[in-house]
Amino acid sequence: MATVSAPQREMRAAVSATKLLIDNQWVDSASGKTFPTIDPATGEAICQVAEADATDVDRAVRAARHAFEHGSWCKTSASERGRLLNRLADLIERHADELARLESLDNGKPYAVAGAADLPLTIACYRYYAGWADKVQGRTIPVNGDYFCYTRLEPVGVVGQIIPWNFPLLMQAWKLGPALATGNTVVMKPAEQTPLTALRVGELIVEAGFPPGVVNLLPGYGPTAGAAIARHMDVDKVAFTGSTEVGKLVMEASAKSNLKRVTLELGGKSPNIVFADADLDQAIEGAHFALFFNQGQCCCAGSRLFVEEKAYDEFVERSTTRAKRRKVGDPFDPATEQGPQVDRDQYDKVMGYIERGKKEGARLMCGGGRVGDRGYFIQPTVFADVTDDMAIAREEIFGPVMSVIKFRDMDEVVARANRTEYGLAAAVWTRDIGKAHAIANSVRAGTVWINCYDVFDAAAPFGGFKQSGMGRELGEYGLQQYTEVKTVTVKL
Ligand code: ADP
Repeated sequence: MATVSAPQREMRAAVSATKLLIDNQWVDSASGKTFPTIDPATGEAICQVAEADATDVDRAVRAARHAFEHGSWCKTSASERGRLLNRLADLIERHADELARLESLDNGKPYAVAGAADLPLTIACYRYYAGWADKVQGRTIPVNGDYFCYTRLEPVGVVGQIIPWNFPLLMQAWKLGPALATGNTVVMKPAEQTPLTALRVGELIVEAGFPPGVVNLLPGYGPTAGAAIARHMDVDKVAFTGSTEVGKLVMEASAKSNLKRVTLELGGKSPNIVFADADLDQAIEGAHFALFFNQGQCCCAGSRLFVEEKAYDEFVERSTTRAKRRKVGDPFDPATEQGPQVDRDQYDKVMGYIERGKKEGARLMCGGGRVGDRGYFIQPTVFADVTDDMAIAREEIFGPVMSVIKFRDMDEVVARANRTEYGLAAAVWTRDIGKAHAIANSVRAGTVWINCYDVFDAAAPFGGFKQSGMGRELGEYGLQQYTEVKTVTVKL
């Protein structure tokens, strides 16, 4: 990791979109301000990006409102919206390798992983919602009396979308797909850590033929640009993915402004429950993936790993061996499994949790330190003898830190799994189908995986119980969050 690799240098030189996209024009911010986006593998700036704030948000909302009410978008048929989304999916597919490289450069995730996971899921998401565009239908309702009653599902209007940095392309697709399929217009703020792929997709959105004002992209910071979207009086809905703390601010801003609709996909501390009767080879590899995938930067990471007492010692030992084998390094090396954390703040936060884990008496089995002397690389870390009261078992770490917790029986583990403010995901590993479904039914979480983890599909809804969020993304449920129901009654 001593030098910048050739692919990194090439990608830096090839960055094309660094401005704001408003009304299909690439413009500087009103203030003229820019901010650097950092390559987390080196800590160096890749390039400067235009920095939006409230004035730019206002301008983008006006463009989005005009497109929604007067532009060609409101006359665009449902099937044509589907065709545009399909065209965008095709363009992303054509540029998949370039986008995987750019994602890797800006976010730090291994290029090979971006190419194998992020890009196919992104393309599938746009195609899935393209298919829905002309299949969103109202109903006829058999009301009493001499009336004909029907419902229309209409777009909510101008939608603000605030996305995080862990899966920049995919989170953009989860948000744009359903919003555009149902005819909304969008003002989107990518995360300040990772604006580059969202902007490159902006170029492809224009190329695909979306009319001006339909998608506006505003890179910038949360407390300025993000907050301006959340409190804007002419934004009809805000969809946010990020921390629970900021999710609450977004909801508060909605309440204090115009009661814009709010959907939130927030943090998690997901229980991953391994029974002694599981296929341990599968469970060990599955638990490794559940925690370490994406440098541990997944809201649904299996970060409370409950292992049944009988299998605990073997599980800890073999999980430690697996973690020690994990290859950390240059994101552009095809053999790399784990790149750097996204930025200095996240690196410091994760290292802070490792220190707390040690202080609170968890047994450090491996890792715990930095890799290399630049960039934000952290050793895959495993803690054993973790107890429920420790900070590493309660709070979201968002890094490559596995906490293995012991349990004795089913009722106990269900109660402990549910003792959290979060409820995003859970998993269970067992050969006993009865036990598996009993866990699936009693864990309070939006997604439960049985003998697998992180299996995502554009058709399968995802979202949180409790403080992990409100509403669902993906699938048909994801569409519902982007329409208003209108009831029409006709006297016969
Ligand atoms: P993380 O801690 O993982 O970076 P955040 O919740 O801080 O997650 O960020 C997720 C997204 O929310 C980012 O696009 C960020 O810029 C934005 N954001 C941060 N603070 C605010 C805020 N006060 N209002 C609106 N958006 C915000």
